[in-house]
Amino acid sequence: ATPTAIMVGTGRGAEEGILIKDGQALEGAGSLTCVVFDKTGTLTEGSPQVTEVLCADGTGRGDALALAAGLERGSEHPLARAVLAAAEEEGAAPVAVDGFEAVPGHGVVGAVAGPDGSPVEVGFGNGRLVARLTGSGVPAWAEGSAPGATDMYLVRGGTVVARVRAADEPKPTAAEGVAALEALGLRVMLLSGDGRAAAEGVASLVGIGPDNVVAEVLPGDKAEVVEGLRASGEKVCMVGDGINDTPALATADIGIAMGAGSDAALEVGQVVLMHDDVRDVARAVSLSRATMRKIR
Ligand code: ADP
Ligand code: MG
Repeated sequence: ATPTAIMVGTGRGAEEGILIKDGQALEGAGSLTCVVFDKTGTLTEGSPQVTEVLCADGTGRGDALALAAGLERGSEHPLARAVLAAAEEEGAAPVAVDGFEAVPGHGVVGAVAGPDGSPVEVGFGNGRLVARLTGSGVPAWAEGSAPGATDMYLVRGGTVVARVRAADEPKPTAAEGVAALEALGLRVMLLSGDGRAAAEGVASLVGIGPDNVVAEVLPGDKAEVVEGLRASGEKVCMVGDGINDTPALATADIGIAMGAGSDAALEVGQVVLMHDDVRDVARAVSLSRATMRKIR
């Protein structure tokens, strides 16, 4: 690639809010075979809303939200913001929680004072967290799922006492952005730490089939999934907002960061999409292909 062609290509990208940090990324984007999207904050808005609170017999909605909010107060996860907002709307003041701890890919845990003052273990998170805290699965009354929605379970003293469901809207440009990549002949995948129902639901809304969904991936394992794809011969682009996926961005052949993402993602991504527009991934690939054509 001639330096001039690269300069012209990067300049054209910058005009469209596609920030290409190095010439190699511009050259490489043209020969990608596979684009892997993170879900939360990348394909979705990243601001989930609580849509339903289901309580076990003997547990009130306000009490459940107060305890969940007490646990989430210490978390920076987008789901935490949804729960805090729902509690506030309900007028439920967050309960004081001791020994707060975030368990990546699971949820949050801590302790509250029981009736006799002794500590009772509490937690809020997914089915994996329920298994950890109760030693068994989600109880029958709390089973079921809604397409695209994330279910979180509130555990108190080894028992599930409530299920809180939250939904996160796909970005308005997501479906079009996925279709544009497929039109360019690329395989499009979704990689998420969320449960299968949530991940497949969002995938179907944006036009990604269930075969191309990898769900329930622990934060530390996202990079391994990308490495596995590379080992199978794919030339992989990872698109993320960086909350949990910075290592995967770094492992991919090309890492693309959403402009509204975390500072870490903006740093590690070789390409930054300033407009947070999913369609810009395809535009970057087209720009690369056009640049390479001019070079040859
Ligand atoms: P994602 O890939 O969607 O960013 P994460 O790895 O951050 O997912 O989290 C995976 C799953 O772990 C979430 O979908 C949720 O079920 C659970 N989880 C993680 N953090 C929290 C939290 N603070 N509150 C409730 N659930 C959580
Ligand atoms: Mg994310």
